[in-house]
Amino acid sequence: MDDVDKFTCPCCSYIVKILMVQNKNTILKNIRFHGRGGQGMKTASRIVGTASFIGGYFAQDFPVYGAERRGAPIIAFTRLSDNPILERGIIVNPDINIIADETLLKDSAANVLQGTWDGTITFVNTHYTASHVKDTYQVSGKIAVVDITDIALKIINKPVLSSVAAASACKLTGIISRDYLQEAVIKELTDINLKKEVIDKNVQAALTCFDNTPSISSPDLKFSEEENENKVVQLEYADARVGSARVYESGNTIMKKTGNWRFFKPVIDHDRCSRCRACFVHCPHSCISLDESGYPHIDYDNCKGCFTCMDECPKKVITKEREVRAW
Ligand code: SF4
Ligand code: SF4
Repeated sequence: MDDVDKFTCPCCSYIVKILMVQNKNTILKNIRFHGRGGQGMKTASRIVGTASFIGGYFAQDFPVYGAERRGAPIIAFTRLSDNPILERGIIVNPDINIIADETLLKDSAANVLQGTWDGTITFVNTHYTASHVKDTYQVSGKIAVVDITDIALKIINKPVLSSVAAASACKLTGIISRDYLQEAVIKELTDINLKKEVIDKNVQAALTCFDNTPSISSPDLKFSEEENENKVVQLEYADARVGSARVYESGNTIMKKTGNWRFFKPVIDHDRCSRCRACFVHCPHSCISLDESGYPHIDYDNCKGCFTCMDECPKKVITKEREVRAW
């Protein structure tokens, strides 16, 4: 049933008539991806959108960036439906919430559980159990966990999570098949000019991840039948002082811990260190200090995991370990 409503344009105060299209019994999956810059969440949302489209669904996918830097929290979204999707804008109440970096759960600024509800399926990339994560962070709704970083490292040899995170999201929709996922991974990674060998590894990792992600029944619809319509929603405009970044006190950079930006951490083997100080001199973030004997020590609260120290160490005694510090 179609209906007509009125809407006052916030720019010009014109009264606009809006066609409201009621699509009862519509399948509508709202998927939100949380990750860090460099992990591939934008591509993950795109792969899920393409897989949905290949499967015959209508789809939207788009990211939101804040400060564009490696390690910064980023968000991406995918909507899929069996009817045209008229809704636009960010997903506030996700049906499926993909958290590709477990350290984000401790980052209050990232607020990755915002808007989740009893019907949300939250997926966390972690080696911990689902019950442990649920209890530790009071996660609403159902939860699924898979260590997709481990799968990516073993098969792709890099902690790039676009294909594997997309695979988990596809599985959790309950309606995107393995075949559609495979086709979408090939298409999206071909479009960004990756080599066939790399694409093949991504396909293998994605399918492994798909198989390892549990099947969880779809949540009940959050909205009432009346609310579950595709419709244009009038957004409220916030004052610039509300929507902009605020600085509460000057010189507060030292209070911001940047250690949770890194995916891997440098570890110094002090038994083989020659105390040459090369790492101390070259760390671009001044995260390495020297003790009284001249041995270097890393400030893990602030080390961003750039690995300049590892590259510069002439004795090659700095190694890379996977970061799981948030726990
Ligand atoms: S990884 Fe980068 S930030 Fe961390 S200690 Fe080494 S050089 Fe410094
Ligand atoms: S660069 Fe390597 S050998 Fe030199 S002080 Fe640092 S860890 Fe030790």
